[in-house]
Amino acid sequence: MTNRSRKPYIAGNWKMNLDRAKCLDLIKTIKGRLGDGGDREVAVFAPAIYLADVTAVAQGSPLGVGGQNIWYEDNGAFTGELAARMLREVGADRVLVGHSERRHVFKEPDEWMGRKVRIALDRDLLPIYCVGETLDERKANRTDRVLKRQLESGFDKVRPEDAHRLTVAYEPVWAIGTGETATPEMAGLAHKTIRKWIAQRLGDTAANTIRILYGGSVKPDNARELMAVDGVDGLLVGGASMQADTFIPIIEYDLRQTP
Ligand code: PEP
Repeated sequence: MTNRSRKPYIAGNWKMNLDRAKCLDLIKTIKGRLGDGGDREVAVFAPAIYLADVTAVAQGSPLGVGGQNIWYEDNGAFTGELAARMLREVGADRVLVGHSERRHVFKEPDEWMGRKVRIALDRDLLPIYCVGETLDERKANRTDRVLKRQLESGFDKVRPEDAHRLTVAYEPVWAIGTGETATPEMAGLAHKTIRKWIAQRLGDTAANTIRILYGGSVKPDNARELMAVDGVDGLLVGGASMQADTFIPIIEYDLRQTP
């Protein structure tokens, strides 16, 4: 049975896509459809340059709006970077940390992750900390080891009392943007590994509080099946979050029949 003591969380990562007009159009449509939000939490992670506009449109609704990355200092000679306090100042209430594209395209090392998660929490942003193995790591049976290493770094400065503000996303790198999705069994096992690790690190209460999302080629047609997996508390959606006609059915995953 899926544990629905944790509120389902559906998040869209727009990455470096859409233009300002399309972002605003999409947020208006989602806001209109979401109403009071009901039993689920919904958020979008927009390009930083549009965050002020997107949060202005989202205002008055339960929709969360976040940035896709931060640096872990508040000020300084960090050309091109954005501080957590800056995202907060333009109305963002959350942020992605350690997305696979940050780790693999931009070579962000594990050592940065704990400080990024900590500054997000300290500056009142809700972090989604992303972890996941590459195809080679999975083939070499190293998935658990990789997840634990990434958790070690991201949770380095996390305390049990942070649990209700922190989310983890399990995103197998080989499933991101590829059309390949983890089977429910794979997702279930990875989520179990992650929750067990959190329980050992922060205790059972924290482990039962922290939501763990699945991400990797989530579509309207597989959202319901993935949400039915024990321990999957939500979905982090890339490609399918960029159009209302694919993102809204995912948000409403249990309100429609699976084909
Ligand atoms: C992502 O960007 O986090 C993601 C899961 O992308 P996609 O849904 O396109 O695989």
